[in-house]
Amino acid sequence: MLIDSHCHIHEYEDNEIRGFKDIKIVGVSLDIESSQRTLELSRKFDNIDPFLGFHPWHLHKSLNRFEEFRALAESRQFMGLGEVGVDARFARSSLKEQLRIFDEVCKLAAELDLPLNVHALGEWRNIIRICNRAGVRSLLLHWYTGPIELLGEIESSGYFVSINPTVVIHEKQIKVLDKASPEIILTESDGPYRYRELNLSPASLEGVIGVISKVKGIEVEEVKRLIYRNYTRFISR
Ligand SMILES: [Zn+2]
Repeated sequence: MLIDSHCHIHEYEDNEIRGFKDIKIVGVSLDIESSQRTLELSRKFDNIDPFLGFHPWHLHKSLNRFEEFRALAESRQFMGLGEVGVDARFARSSLKEQLRIFDEVCKLAAELDLPLNVHALGEWRNIIRICNRAGVRSLLLHWYTGPIELLGEIESSGYFVSINPTVVIHEKQIKVLDKASPEIILTESDGPYRYRELNLSPASLEGVIGVISKVKGIEVEEVKRLIYRNYTRFISR
């Protein structure tokens, strides 16, 4: 089974989702409403693992709803928290505000022993430090394009990075894939999303597996097994 460790499945129609039935999909969410939709979808489709989201791009609209987020996390209906994180470039909330909320999210994840699915654009080092300090046990840095020299720290923390379909045109992703230990790699689509000429979707995952196979020199079926094992470690409590 293929693994899409970061997908906005709440933005797809049911008939499209049916086409992804052979892919295990982590449904990340943006806010309370999309989290509820993700949860509903996970009840309808058994290949969806629902994650509860509080996305940095939406923080300016969601700030007063953190207690609802907490209550939903405590309800244990979600398998993890995400998409959460900070964004030094594109978010409308100040970095300080984002970091304050992210700190709360990390404490919650540590307390409930839930994995985090993190957007950390431009703040990779800081995010790893905060998560380690809070005692976050499992963490995915999605679409990792951060410093190569942090990969060792990510591995020793027991955390993961995901490779996105943009790996076919994105020099930095190739470099990350080349240098990262196979044990910390997951695959993702971040669909539905348009990046230059690419339409990112769970259907793009076979291509990602092919690139991983080529760069790592591991046979395709073995790459699939490896990613599945990594996913089991990411999600298990
Ligand atoms: Zn995303």
